[in-house]
Amino acid sequence: MSVAASATASTSPVSAQEAYLDELFDKGILFDTGVDGLYGRSDVFEDVIQAFDRLITRYGAQDRATPIHFPPGISRPLFEKSGYMKSFPQLAGTVHSFMGGEADHCTLLAELEAGQDWTGQQTATDIVLTPAACYPLYPTVAKRGPLPVDGRLYDLQSYCFRHEPSKDPARMQMFRMREYVRIGSPEQVQAFRETWLERGQAMMGSLGVPLKVDLANDPFFGRAGRMLANNQRDTGLKFELLIPVTSEEKPTACLSFNYHQDHFGSLWNIPTHNGDVAHTACVGFGMERVALALFKHHGTDTAQWPQAVRQVLWG
Ligand code: AMP
Ligand code: ZN
Repeated sequence: MSVAASATASTSPVSAQEAYLDELFDKGILFDTGVDGLYGRSDVFEDVIQAFDRLITRYGAQDRATPIHFPPGISRPLFEKSGYMKSFPQLAGTVHSFMGGEADHCTLLAELEAGQDWTGQQTATDIVLTPAACYPLYPTVAKRGPLPVDGRLYDLQSYCFRHEPSKDPARMQMFRMREYVRIGSPEQVQAFRETWLERGQAMMGSLGVPLKVDLANDPFFGRAGRMLANNQRDTGLKFELLIPVTSEEKPTACLSFNYHQDHFGSLWNIPTHNGDVAHTACVGFGMERVALALFKHHGTDTAQWPQAVRQVLWG
């Protein structure tokens, strides 16, 4: 157990989070940028992320998923159609740019100079920051027409943006999410999720961290959102694999296992081979969260990590 871990027993959740964040800055694992949730990463941190990425690939390789490498932005018209602003308006980030003429530029510079809000001089572009790695996938798959009999399986990774500034080092605003996404019949996608619920626990268990799997819900916005969240829990649509990072009582969701039923299939019009609406499921790996969980439990010096864990990650 590291210094900050032992401190969690006697300190409030917020100060335990800040203490761990400070420790990560002090040890040069993360670098402060002045914005909560936006950090530079050390080579050591990236080395752990890459090793974990390869571990996921080893567990998933037998399924022969199709990798697609999307940039961390998605089309605004497609984002608008996705319904994200209905469910999670508080998390979204849109890209804006200056599109004015010279007079507007003068106004912008004057506002900047005077310390006023200058962002009104910008206009929304056609790009929105990707909120979850699977969002650009569904419209892409829809364009390919009906699914083959076996459905499809994709392997994605993206930097994601969520506006949730926090002193909790595990709650970043820009972070990487790896995802496997299964699209097919209800049976196919449920079997996929079951498999990954097992695999995820075996994989994380091999990394020597304490874990549990629990029902979960997404942070749907507002009063209507509370009903959606309750329904998501009641129907067992989301599970998370939790590992204590800054709190034993409130462990951090490091992997998630989501069954969307026919939500995306009907929204994007994805038919199965026999014309039914496709169901979808995804397993998401929070790359930074897993790295932070490993640093928390094994210390910030990876050379000192248990030999068995080093073996799993680096061979
Ligand atoms: P979700 O779509 O919320 O289930 O997110 C998928 C995975 O991304 C989660 O299991 C987390 O490991 C990770 N994740 C979600 N939000 C954040 C965040 N703010 N900072 C870092 N990782 C996150
Ligand atoms: Zn997803």
